[in-house]
Amino acid sequence: MPTPARAYAAQSADTALAPFSFERRDPQADDVAIDILHCGVCHSDVHTARSEWGGTLYPCVPGHEIVGRVTAVGGDVTNFAVGDIVGVGCMVDSCGTCPSCNEGEEQYCEGSGFVGTYNGPDPVMGGHTYGGYADHIVVKQDFVLRITHDEADLAAVAPLLCAGITTYSPLKHWKVGPGQKVGVVGLGGLGHMGVKIAAAMGAEVHVFSTSPGKRDDAKRLGATDLIVSKDDAAMAGHAGSFDFILNTVAAPHDLNLYLNLLKRDGTMVLVGVPDSPHDPVEVANLVFKRRSLAGSLIGGIRETQEMLDFCKAHGIVSDIEPIAIDQINTAWDRMVKSDVKYRFVIDMDSLKAA
Ligand SMILES: [Zn+2]
Ligand SMILES: [Zn+2]
Repeated sequence: MPTPARAYAAQSADTALAPFSFERRDPQADDVAIDILHCGVCHSDVHTARSEWGGTLYPCVPGHEIVGRVTAVGGDVTNFAVGDIVGVGCMVDSCGTCPSCNEGEEQYCEGSGFVGTYNGPDPVMGGHTYGGYADHIVVKQDFVLRITHDEADLAAVAPLLCAGITTYSPLKHWKVGPGQKVGVVGLGGLGHMGVKIAAAMGAEVHVFSTSPGKRDDAKRLGATDLIVSKDDAAMAGHAGSFDFILNTVAAPHDLNLYLNLLKRDGTMVLVGVPDSPHDPVEVANLVFKRRSLAGSLIGGIRETQEMLDFCKAHGIVSDIEPIAIDQINTAWDRMVKSDVKYRFVIDMDSLKAA
C-alpha cells in the first residue's frame, strides 16, 4: 500500500508551485522511509520546474537538498535505523554495475545514468521521481547519507547535499590544500560553500565577484580578499598566480579573464552549466602555460558522506534564510535575482501544518 504524500509541485513550465498530493512507495527491502525536516532551494529546482533545460516531466516536485528523520526501514537495511537523522542529495539510484558506479562515482553512471531525486525515471512506482518539497520520501539505503551535525544546525546542513558536494568534489579531486592560492568565481549558493570548504582545506582563497559590496562577507566566510572582476587593473595584478579556480557562475561570460590568472599547470573547473555558450576560449591561454579547463558534476555517494563528515569536523554549514513552504514562489523569484544569503531552506513543518 503506497503512502499518500503532501508536496508542492509545478503543473507546467509557466505555473507557480502549488499544493499537490501523490503516493510514495512503501519501503522495499532495501529502502529507508524519511520524514523530511528541511529542504534546500537550488537553482536546478527552478531550471527544471520551468523546463529551462527541456525534458521536464509534470507534475514536477523539486528539491534535492533533503534532511530528515528515518521513520521506517526495509528488512535488508543494515546501516540506518528508525530515528536516525539522514540526508538525500541529487541522486536516488544508478545502475550499480558500470565502471563509474563501481568506483563510487554514481553521478557519472554509464549504464542508464543516475536517477535524479526528481524528474528521473522512478524504477519502482513507474512514472517519474518526486523530490524533497514534500513531507516524506522513500530512498534506497545506498543513496542515503548519515548526518552527525547538531540538531540545531540541520536546516543549514541541507544545502551541503547539493551546493556542498558540488564544490567539495572538485576541490578534493584537484587536491586543493595548504600553500595554494585558490579562486572562487561568484559568491552565491555554490560560491559561498566553495569559499568555506577551500579555506577549511587550508588554501588561501580569493573571491571573484562583480559586486565589491560582498567583500566583507567574502572575508567573513574565510576568503583573504575579494577581487572585483570588472576591475582590469586588479585582475591584471593577479595574472599567472592561481593554482586553482572554482568557477560557479553559470551565466555566459569570458572564461579567458580567469584562465589568464592561472599559474603554469593551473586548472579552472566549471560547475555551472550555461543555457547559452560562453565566449570562445583562447587556446593560447591554455597552451602557453599548460593550463587546464575542466568541469565537475556534484559528487558520488561515498564522497558526499566524506564531505558531510568533513563539514561536521570543521564546523561548516551553509548560510541560510529559512522559509515556510508557502513562501517558495517569492523565494524562487528572489533567488533568480541572486537576492539571497546564501541559500533558502524550506522548513517542512510548514507543509505538515498547512
Ligand atoms: Zn542542486
Ligand atoms: Zn552505473
